[in-house]
Amino acid sequence: MRDVSGEAQVLGFVEALEAVLHHAARVRVTGADKVGLLASAGRVLAEEVRADRDQPAFDRATRDGFAVRAAEWAAGRRLRVVGLVRAGETWAGKALSSGEAVEIMTGAAVPSGADAVAMVEHAELGEGLVWAAAARGLRAEENIVRCASEARRGEVLLAAGRAMGAAEIALAAACGRAEIAVRKRPAVAIVATGDELVEVEETPVDSQIRNSNGVALTAMVEAAGGEARRLAIARDTRESLRERIAEGSGSRLLLLSGGVSVGKYDLVEEVLAEFGAEFLFRGVRMQPGRPVVFGRLRKTASQRGSESASQRVGELAEEREWTYFYGLPGNPVSTLVTFQCFVGPMLRALCGAGAAGPRFVQATLADEVKGKAGLTRILPAILRHDLERPEGRIVGWQGSGDLAANARANCYAVLADGRDYNSGDVISVLLR
Ligand code: AMP
Ligand code: MG
Repeated sequence: MRDVSGEAQVLGFVEALEAVLHHAARVRVTGADKVGLLASAGRVLAEEVRADRDQPAFDRATRDGFAVRAAEWAAGRRLRVVGLVRAGETWAGKALSSGEAVEIMTGAAVPSGADAVAMVEHAELGEGLVWAAAARGLRAEENIVRCASEARRGEVLLAAGRAMGAAEIALAAACGRAEIAVRKRPAVAIVATGDELVEVEETPVDSQIRNSNGVALTAMVEAAGGEARRLAIARDTRESLRERIAEGSGSRLLLLSGGVSVGKYDLVEEVLAEFGAEFLFRGVRMQPGRPVVFGRLRKTASQRGSESASQRVGELAEEREWTYFYGLPGNPVSTLVTFQCFVGPMLRALCGAGAAGPRFVQATLADEVKGKAGLTRILPAILRHDLERPEGRIVGWQGSGDLAANARANCYAVLADGRDYNSGDVISVLLR
């Protein structure tokens, strides 16, 4: 990757994603909370989960039926039913002998001496005997999951750094982990800027607008596993911005919305520069979102000191010296899109999940749409999740202020710089 740590630049879309990942990959997190297993949902593992016993811990029947010797069953022999074993039980007998069968339930331990389970649906019964209905074969090992075939005791099943969803929680539960260590949530300061803003609880006059970005950013931060700290609205003055930036710069991440375009009162970058900001990019060739800014501020000694000693153990001192910040364009859809593309990956890294970019899939375009020279276009779209051929349809909208159109969409179509698209073309789609 090109070194972007020097001079401030306007980058292409892909370069900007790479710049964020480059820095996200350098993030180290330490410290953990021990939480109840269910409370780990949406958080990141701070320890490994190992199998506490073999999985399965016994040879497990996967069907209701009869534990038998497969060759005898396949040969059509009439077998004497010598017992029954239910789930949760072990058969009281020693081992199955030739000419015998044991009735067995799904989930029960297969008696030794048996090498397959014949399904009850395939069996004929009479006078204490069981045999194969019609000419049904049975292979050795059929309908048995052998002891330890899924995992051996002590094997690592979930590595530290895994985000906990239902699949991971299910596995940890199967390993008896009622409590689990997860990474601390990184504190994320959120500052909306603008003279025109009022909070959602207030009544705007005609020329005012509600601070929806502050709420949207809070929701996205929390959904990504961060701890949102919403600060008061900053007005479009140096004084007000200085106050808020000073307040927010002790967090692990600082998000500002608005005030990063070329207007007379767009002062965010100027004030960040007063704080000694290092800008990693100052604009991305995309629409919406072009004015987006990414950079970092060196922490003051007192801010570093405010972190607990346990958080500092073992970390690379150098990269914890910085608070990363983003100046997100104020238009509400621009804020959402640039968060998803550039903030999400950094935030997940700060949560301990490592560096990974946003999720794209490919879909067939259902419309015609014109590209724009020099810009990656990102348009609200509806993805129909068909089994075979996902199809994306662009949603009509009034531009990046149009939250209503954006809410009708369920994804964004990503259109390459300057290219015109026809119906049937394959496009990239950014999933929400
Ligand atoms: P700016 O990036 O400050 O030039 O703002 C661009 C547009 O986004 C303007 O129409 C603003 O009113 C609007 N906007 C800025 N901040 C917010 C916010 N926090 N919530 C909703 N809209 C905003
Ligand atoms: Mg503004």
